[in-house]
Amino acid sequence: MIKPFMPQLVYIEPQALEYPLGKQLKEKFENLGIEIRQTTSHNQVRNIPGENHLQKYRNAKSTLVVGVRKTLKFDTSKPSAEYAIPLATGCMGHCQYCYLQTTMGSKPYIRTYVNIEEIFDAAKKYMDERLPEETRFEAACTSDIVGIDHLTHSLKKAIEFFGQSDKGKLRFVTKYHHVDHLLDADHRGKTRFRFSINADYVIRNFEHGTSALKDRIEAAAKVADAGYPLGFIVAPIYLHDGWKEGYEQMFQLLNETLPSTARDDLTFELIQHRFTKPAKRVIQKNYPMTKLELDEEKRKYKWGKYGIGKYVYQKDEQEEIKENLHKHIEQYFPEAKIEYFT
Ligand code: SF4
Repeated sequence: MIKPFMPQLVYIEPQALEYPLGKQLKEKFENLGIEIRQTTSHNQVRNIPGENHLQKYRNAKSTLVVGVRKTLKFDTSKPSAEYAIPLATGCMGHCQYCYLQTTMGSKPYIRTYVNIEEIFDAAKKYMDERLPEETRFEAACTSDIVGIDHLTHSLKKAIEFFGQSDKGKLRFVTKYHHVDHLLDADHRGKTRFRFSINADYVIRNFEHGTSALKDRIEAAAKVADAGYPLGFIVAPIYLHDGWKEGYEQMFQLLNETLPSTARDDLTFELIQHRFTKPAKRVIQKNYPMTKLELDEEKRKYKWGKYGIGKYVYQKDEQEEIKENLHKHIEQYFPEAKIEYFT
């Protein structure tokens, strides 16, 4: 079973020490005997140790920067939410298809923001602007926030902040099972807790450093018992030898493990594997031994924003995926809502 994340090296921005969470984290890492370095700004975190790109990349993923979020303008996060709430960036996982490799290319380290009250104030302004409409915030656009939250508890505070709001909703997704500290959060049903799941083969081969399927599903059952609305993102759906059986076994395990209370308000989001040319280059640089199939010839080209198209599965393969996965969801979880297949 994978252990909760612990950084090997911590950078602290001086301004972070003006906030209670910044001070707490400094003390925590000092007590744990973890190496701490001061930095004037996160852009100066250039000296990640390592002799070559691969070593630096790996070391960056075990480096935590404790910083202050300066931009309090939130990005939009359509279609699943109106805004992305910035609590952290970066992730310790080694999923070979992770899109953070392209979006955060030069900064693969993890950064957590300690000015959470200011971030919540900004969220409140966004909610007020949209009243009487509801406003949804996504907390996992730029990191796997659950995976680092046992250290910071900022997600827990966000869950409780939205719990008390009138028209705010929170959602996030994770590949980690370290959820225990979130079970007693006063969420008031305003947070949808989602797990990213996949066929066992896909997790074992392409999602190194994340929780096993069984552990994720057991964590989901605990989350459901704690009364959270629950969701699953099956992504990326990846064609491999025995994929039909692999996905069927995944749904069977889900069916055996989830309590009955989880089933009335359950969502599924289905996302097929895709890649862009720039993503393929960066994957091959970060994971040169990857077995991930990235052959443009086998795929269908889909035009995308800014002229960067995606390579998705062929039309008939997409139909087969959709038909298979929908069938299992309808069989095991007839009450669940399939939000989309893309
Ligand atoms: Fe990326 Fe999520 Fe994997 Fe982290 S757990 S590396 S954010 S895909």
